[in-house]
Amino acid sequence: MAKHTIVLIPGDGIGPEVMSATRRVLEASGLSAEWVELPAGAAAIDQGYDNVLPARTLAAIQAHKLALKGPVTTPVGKGFKSVNVQLRKALNLYSAVRPVRSLAGVKTRFSDIDIVIIRENTEGLYSGIENEVVPGVVTSLKVATEVACTRIARYAFRYATRRHRKKITVFHKANIMKLTDGMFINSARKIHEEEYPNIEYDEVIIDAGCMKLVQDPNRFDMLLMENLYGDLVSDLCAGLVGGLGVVPGSNIGDDAAVFEAVHGSAPDIAGKGVANPLALIMSAVMMLEHMHEDAIAKKVQTAYEAVIAEGKTLTRDLGGTASTDQFTDALIAKLK
Ligand code: NAD
Repeated sequence: MAKHTIVLIPGDGIGPEVMSATRRVLEASGLSAEWVELPAGAAAIDQGYDNVLPARTLAAIQAHKLALKGPVTTPVGKGFKSVNVQLRKALNLYSAVRPVRSLAGVKTRFSDIDIVIIRENTEGLYSGIENEVVPGVVTSLKVATEVACTRIARYAFRYATRRHRKKITVFHKANIMKLTDGMFINSARKIHEEEYPNIEYDEVIIDAGCMKLVQDPNRFDMLLMENLYGDLVSDLCAGLVGGLGVVPGSNIGDDAAVFEAVHGSAPDIAGKGVANPLALIMSAVMMLEHMHEDAIAKKVQTAYEAVIAEGKTLTRDLGGTASTDQFTDALIAKLK
């Protein structure tokens, strides 16, 4: 019997291409796993389900507590509620963890970047509480609860402790949103003072924080922020290390975890066989660490770092000409 059961959600656009590459890598890595492949997103509707997040897919993640997910297409302005928001809420995946690291072989303006972004995943402006006050006037409610602000702050400090990180910086706009962002920083301060005084802590207003990030990203170690800021700053940081093709992500709750790349379904290149699968492979490495398969995680990481450093088999987004399959083959050849 396989040691682990993992729910695989290929998703939409380039999702199935990068998922099949990632699965090949995991199978070649020696991981003992059984895969439960289920749809979400436009793919679910195409397969006859009545929701972009079918009850069957959600139930499987609840049962197995672990999923690797490809990107899904979110219809803008109408239609179904986002799969990602539904998943995060239904499974209470309250922390998004997004490590952003420079890779030898990927040329960027800065080197040696190593930042972990912790994003609150369940509230803020993603609460989905919008209404029309009168025709022509609409509102969207930003929600902050002490429970969620405290929970994410504690998660960040615990992560910093386990991973031997030194400093947490909160990005906020509490000078304007005194109640909501005020609650976010007050909760973080309290956890720092009462539970983790050994980890350095500071607060930066987000607009200045973004400027500092692009001027000198190496001054930051871990960033902690509410939902929308975390979404935006994750992509900004991805840009610092080579783009969305090279940054992984995870959504972690107390009962389940869903690992996925930060990038979307990239409809512009879907079906062409040129997508970079690295971000999903890196997300799979985070999943392996979560599963305590550290040796296999290290093996896959060492292999992709070697392929990128060699620079002979890079996908288009990294300046190469390799297809998704060629990159994957090169990585598998390095697994040992
Ligand atoms: P995107 O991330 O899909 O694409 C942005 C740009 O980056 C495109 O030019 C694309 O070709 C490129 N790109 C992205 N991933 C790449 C990869 N692995 N290899 C090479 N190039 C890559 O962002 P978008 O165009 O704003 O969004 C497209 C769709 O994806 C939307 O429906 C959006 O809602 C959805 N989305 C889903 C997720 C998710 O499921 N986690 C995240 C972000 C966006």
